[in-house]
Amino acid sequence: MSKIRILPDALASQVAAGEVVERPAALVRELVENSLDAGARHVEVHAQRGGCAMIRIVDDGSGMDREDAMLCLERHATSKIRTKEDLGAITTFGFRGEALPSIASVSRFRLATRERDSLVGTEVEVNGGKLVAVRDHGGAPGTVIEARSLFFNVPARRKFLRTEPTEFAHVEQQLRLHAIANPHVAFTLTHNGELVLHLPATRDMLERIRGLAGEELASRLLKVEEQTIHGITISGYIGGPGMSRSNRQMQTTYLNGRPIESSSISYGLREGYHTALMKGQYPITFLFIQMDPHAFDVNVHPAKKEVRFHDGNAVREAISRAISRTLENANKLPTGHAPAKPALVLRPSPETTPAARQEQFSMPVERASAPLRQAAPQQPSIQPVPHVPAPAPQVEKTSAEPPAPPIQSSEKTARPAEKTEAPDFRIIGVLQKLYVLMESAEGLVLMDQHAAHERVNFEKIRRALESGGVPCQRLLMPITLQTTPRDADLLRQNLAALGRLGIEIDSFGPNTFKVEAVPAFLKTDDPAAWLDDVIEELRSLSAKSSSLRLSEDAIATTACRASVKSNDALSIPELQALLKDLFTCEMPYCCPHGRPTLVQISTAELERKFGRRAPG
Ligand code: ADP
Ligand code: MG
Repeated sequence: MSKIRILPDALASQVAAGEVVERPAALVRELVENSLDAGARHVEVHAQRGGCAMIRIVDDGSGMDREDAMLCLERHATSKIRTKEDLGAITTFGFRGEALPSIASVSRFRLATRERDSLVGTEVEVNGGKLVAVRDHGGAPGTVIEARSLFFNVPARRKFLRTEPTEFAHVEQQLRLHAIANPHVAFTLTHNGELVLHLPATRDMLERIRGLAGEELASRLLKVEEQTIHGITISGYIGGPGMSRSNRQMQTTYLNGRPIESSSISYGLREGYHTALMKGQYPITFLFIQMDPHAFDVNVHPAKKEVRFHDGNAVREAISRAISRTLENANKLPTGHAPAKPALVLRPSPETTPAARQEQFSMPVERASAPLRQAAPQQPSIQPVPHVPAPAPQVEKTSAEPPAPPIQSSEKTARPAEKTEAPDFRIIGVLQKLYVLMESAEGLVLMDQHAAHERVNFEKIRRALESGGVPCQRLLMPITLQTTPRDADLLRQNLAALGRLGIEIDSFGPNTFKVEAVPAFLKTDDPAAWLDDVIEELRSLSAKSSSLRLSEDAIATTACRASVKSNDALSIPELQALLKDLFTCEMPYCCPHGRPTLVQISTAELERKFGRRAPG
């Protein structure tokens, strides 16, 4: 006897429902998409008990006539595509004709709908896939869809539902995704009868983001000016350097209005943020991508969350360029009233012991205390205030560079593009040999000296790399390195990259290496200790990656970090030079690891702290 059977329709729908509607948030996704496809201007979402007890969506879209109201519950019934060709260029959210029958098969389902110019509408009731009633409906034009007791007839799936708060959090997140992409549509969300979100329609995308993410975050976003690269149009808002999250929740990207995830897009974002993003952190983005619907396939994921691009590289590159341009154009100093208030956490660097700290406070009297006295309140505008001049138009060399004979002549070093003018900061003093306190027109600015140094060195290296290699200084006495076999492998895999970075290193036996030269930017009396630091960092980097061969950028950031580890207290002119160098950088506001280099506490913020101004 044959074993294969065609499944009855109701069962087939339940099977399909397993893929399409995995939780209440998925209902919200499908139903809101339908409302948007129907041209709704107002969409209400009501949830009870996380959406498990009930989800109701009310819209003022086109509505359906009786025939369609019955048909839409059949599997593969859709008004959105007709031919195979349509499937190649989908412009609506829906196209499979699967959602409504799937939802109706796993819930107590009610659909009430009326077309704008029909006198009477239709109400259909379905119970776990079985049609229970069809009657006239006298409600407002548009569509109401209600799904109660989700999975009441599929206990195996009900078990996978999480707690009400968790399910509701997903519902809310789902609605937020749609709300951001459709500011012209008003949205309302209630939970157990209480209003959770109320978003009036607006023409201004930023206004909508403000309504969802709050004034504070919205005010710190950078606008991505609409630009078309490789035929891909990109626009939206993104977080600036140093603004990030430890999860992807705020990394929202849309393709032709559909919220999607895609590895090409994620790579593009990461590449675009480059060193403006701390490792393990995710950017904050509200990014809109528009492209020819023939150039990708949305029909690859049951929840239509992922797409397949025909040319993923073009997408990656377009995004990366749009992001890096936006970041480079941004000229905003991180302010002290960021939610995490990093400005006020003046921690000593971890390597400073209490004893060492005491020393720092008492020792560099000639350096730090003189300018500190200048800032004393009774003498507000005293004498030689060290102002930092704007950088000369071409900055080729800085005083910090040792006069060692470079391999490459430094003339070859590419000149940085037109950069931000160095602001007129007055240096007040240095806290804990690390934080440089400065006065600006807006208030207090703190510079993390190490982070700034890392950024400066990193960009010097990168510019040098782009023009052939990093200048190096030959050591009088070559250094011999004895390594473990694993470190030896690591070094051998990266010899070429290290060479380009100015570290002239050669294999000299199975686990032995000879170092003849180190980068010219390095200012140290103990290059061997520096090399140890570099190797240690490379080792921990490689432990996290699957291959021993590391990217040139990774090695460069490593070399920079090690180069500033043992920085001494700097004199005021040295600090001025550093600040000036920092502002010739492409990305002055964060170090290559994404930490801020400068933080500002505005006068207004200080006034609030001292009770001179009402908290705003
Ligand atoms: P799809 O969206 O893939 O077409 P659905 O099962 O989600 O499949 O919906 C089936 C059809 O029902 C849609 O093609 C549309 O014609 C109609 N429909 C669903 N929801 C609405 C709505 N809120 N307003 C008007 N028509 C709707
Ligand atoms: Mg649909």
